[in-house]
Amino acid sequence: MDNTNKKYHIWTAGCQMNVADSRRLGSSLEHLGYQFTDKAKEADVLVLNTCVVRQSAENKALGFLHSIRPLKEKNPNLVINLMGCLVGVKGTEKLQKKLPFVDVFSPPSDPGPLIAHLSQDEDYIAETDATRNRFALMDGEIIIPEHERGKLVSAFIPVVYGCSHACTYCIIPYQRGIERSRPVGEIIAEARSLAAQGVKEITLLGQIVDRYGKDVPDGPNLADLLRLLNDVEGVERIRFLTSHPNYFGEDIMEAVAELDKVMPHFEVPIQAGDDEVLENMKRGYTQKDYRGLIAKIREKVDGCSIATDIIVGFPGETDEQFEHTYELLADLKMDVAHLARYSPRKGTVSERRMPDDVPDKIKRERFHRLESLQKTIASEINARLLGETIPVLFEEKVKGRWRGRTSTNKLVFVETDDDLRGQVLPVQITWTGPWSMQAKLLNQPPTPIILE
Ligand code: SAH
Repeated sequence: MDNTNKKYHIWTAGCQMNVADSRRLGSSLEHLGYQFTDKAKEADVLVLNTCVVRQSAENKALGFLHSIRPLKEKNPNLVINLMGCLVGVKGTEKLQKKLPFVDVFSPPSDPGPLIAHLSQDEDYIAETDATRNRFALMDGEIIIPEHERGKLVSAFIPVVYGCSHACTYCIIPYQRGIERSRPVGEIIAEARSLAAQGVKEITLLGQIVDRYGKDVPDGPNLADLLRLLNDVEGVERIRFLTSHPNYFGEDIMEAVAELDKVMPHFEVPIQAGDDEVLENMKRGYTQKDYRGLIAKIREKVDGCSIATDIIVGFPGETDEQFEHTYELLADLKMDVAHLARYSPRKGTVSERRMPDDVPDKIKRERFHRLESLQKTIASEINARLLGETIPVLFEEKVKGRWRGRTSTNKLVFVETDDDLRGQVLPVQITWTGPWSMQAKLLNQPPTPIILE
């Protein structure tokens, strides 16, 4: 089989898990001899890794799918692979009928269907074992796709696939299947192989990452996993997301406080600050529980930063209930708030049983009120860092400026001609805004003075 001149392109939407899945798939395709192209229209294999968490994400995927249809008409040999949450885990019959020009349908996190399809096309069947072996590689060790190799500083490692929670608004458990923790050995192997290829920072992923290991009797938990990863040579920073408030135990806080490589930043969504709305969402905690948790995290992990997610306009949310969310955000002063307008997702409990009765105009107003509150909060928090010297891990140069992150996950830009990629350097903060900061390097050689 010769795929040397064949190219693949992967379009990725949605969460970090999809980014991780796309990289994995790219790696599998390169094993088969395909080369990456950043141009969809040049590809022989075109993958769409999709998200359906909100209607807007679904529309984006369908829009892109529609836009590539002419490519298939021009080139019938083009292989189109639809992957991710638009496909889901419950069979593809309906989708196949609706989208006859799609060649392969893959559930989230599963490169299998595409690899099998391409292998068959190339009379590769006799070598299925070899394919399987190549594939087995993906279970632990990972080879970074060529165009990113040696450049990638920060990588994601999925540690829990799927989700077994039943938040009433959320489609993810339906599309990604039940919760499955990956074996610890696989995760360590993946971290080691990433570090060997120059990756400095790993971020562990799970819909509820703090449930890691809880689906396996006597398995290691997230705190244990962090301890093991802290010993992996070459890995300099470790992060994890997303945490559910109910599983964020003191053992995790203690592990973060104790382990030098685990960064003091957490993503712990509240979703709403009103108890009745939280109950309708089936989140499993009250706003008071959440306030208590945030206080405890801040006490145990000195100087940490915390991000939250909030949905506005959940069915039945009154003005007064929304004010509770507003007050909570104003009181807790989170470092980051990811905001979303409620979007009914077909088949979820809220879609079936609760009318989407908050008008879009009100959803938008609530969204903007929280956004401007958060802008003030984040500006104040970041302004405290002005003039401070703090370590930043630099990732890449964007429009002439090096982009990096503090241990607390804040974005920092530095203007320099030096190559900062992959380095953790102390920098002095010279400007702060709500969403990012600017800094200068210390010990930069002074501007030379020319003596006459
Ligand atoms: N598993 C994580 C992340 C889920 S998706 C968690 O439990 O928090 C990321 C965010 O999208 C969620 O935190 C939520 O704020 C938002 N989201 C999920 N479903 C949504 C829906 N139907 N409408 C609007 N926002 C939604």
